[in-house]
Amino acid sequence: MSKVRAPADDALARIHDVVGAKGWIIDDAGMAPYVVDSRELYHGNCAAVVRPASREEVMGVIRLCAEARISVVPQGGNTGLVGGSVPPAEGGGIVLSLGRMNRIRDLDALNNTMTVEAGCILADLQTAAEDAGRLFPLSLGAEGSCMIGGNLSTNAGGVGVLRYGNARDLALGLEVVLPDGQLWDGLRGLRKDNTGYDLKHLFIGAEGTLGVITAAVLKLFPRPGAQETALVAVPRLGDVMGLLADARDASGDAVTAFELMPAIGIDLVLKHFPDMTAPMSGKTQWYVLIELSAGKIGASESEGALRLCLEGFLEKAFAAGTVSDAVIAASQAQASELWRFREILPESQTREGGSIKHDVSVPVSAIADFITQASQRVAVEMEGVRIFPFGHIGDGNIHFNLSQPPGMEKSDFLGHWRQFNRLVHDLAMEMGGSFSAEHGIGQLKRDELTHYRSGIELDLMRRIKQMLDPDGIMNPGKLL
Ligand code: FAD
Repeated sequence: MSKVRAPADDALARIHDVVGAKGWIIDDAGMAPYVVDSRELYHGNCAAVVRPASREEVMGVIRLCAEARISVVPQGGNTGLVGGSVPPAEGGGIVLSLGRMNRIRDLDALNNTMTVEAGCILADLQTAAEDAGRLFPLSLGAEGSCMIGGNLSTNAGGVGVLRYGNARDLALGLEVVLPDGQLWDGLRGLRKDNTGYDLKHLFIGAEGTLGVITAAVLKLFPRPGAQETALVAVPRLGDVMGLLADARDASGDAVTAFELMPAIGIDLVLKHFPDMTAPMSGKTQWYVLIELSAGKIGASESEGALRLCLEGFLEKAFAAGTVSDAVIAASQAQASELWRFREILPESQTREGGSIKHDVSVPVSAIADFITQASQRVAVEMEGVRIFPFGHIGDGNIHFNLSQPPGMEKSDFLGHWRQFNRLVHDLAMEMGGSFSAEHGIGQLKRDELTHYRSGIELDLMRRIKQMLDPDGIMNPGKLL
């Protein structure tokens, strides 16, 4: 049973005193964007939105919340897709928005690290790294508004995982305000540090249930000297993953992105975005966006070498019949155009009507089998359902989405959400996969967590939660 309480006016007044007028939103219109998620699946309520400007203010606020047992929902850009950043419908607690904590505290180009506050917008961090001649490779569709604290709390993935790993792999150190208001300063920028349990990993992916991430030390990388992007038509799904293996072999592992798009995705992009033109004249069942990146040993030489490598690899694939058509971007502008297909694919599905989403992963070798079997199972379940698998398959992640049959009522279709989830998640689990690859658990997948995770895993998670947050003030009703 939750031990959190509705905040008394004097407790709220003391929280207000910590953050001042600039960090305080209490009117309904001002709070409105903070209490609904990006897909408008969850609508919550809160007593106030509190926007601290420093870690000291976060400590002060959390200490008061701990004393008065007021629940706290940490929030970054509020772009999460599982309802994790939205307060509960019954209200009572506060939303702690980190948006004002957006300073880059330090950028050490020689150490290839930057120390940043939780409220920095991801795209701003990419730009800061670029300005210093470095690359911060975390990249996802919401990068213009999501914040690094949210990225770390969800262990975000995105398009660069194949080469650089997910958010967890990109963090060297963390600073966290614990549920009792104490500060854990783990801001170490070390690549080697074997000194007991690696505590930062408790907070990464914890979705705000164990404390508030206030800052992080992030890994930077040299910027690639050359990049090549191609959109490739692949008639047979069974050939797709072999193509990835060949591209990695042929390029000395220079593949930095490998994204799947189905024919229905390209069709819906062209239908709903009239400014887009068909990327190639013929049509085929599957398309893969491949990006290769290489170092800087003489930028023009590496550019030429990378292009030759891509062309050579594609020629072999044409000869073997695995690829039926391909467009290689001749400029950065053309590369961006090809990427645009992938970026607006989810929106084109939204514009088509109701969609039921699955964010699953399986071993890379099982991708084609998974898509084939899952497609067969859902087609048996509902006649006319449109199957829309896409995403970061280079790292084993498939957004196995379903669109409503033409003519069906959206609400009727969405009524089948749980039934399709069970079918698709069961298959992913049977194949040694996961029912939540990169979006996390939040509110949306709590039941799936208890359904699929073993008793011992759940018990360990609950004991960690109980130890760090005995009164359950941190993001109640999420994850566990
Ligand atoms: P929020 O949504 O604000 O919060 C997410 C969770 O983290 C919540 O549980 C919240 O309580 C917690 N939290 C936030 N900040 C903190 C903090 N400082 N301390 C403790 N807890 C905190 N995700 C991917 O992984 N890959 C993708 O490719 C991808 N593409 C997307 C494309 C679009 C168009 C959209 C809308 C979303 C996409 N997402 C993707 C989902 C989302 O962008 C990510 O989950 C992102 O990491 C969330 O960051 P945020 O700042 O918006 O966090």
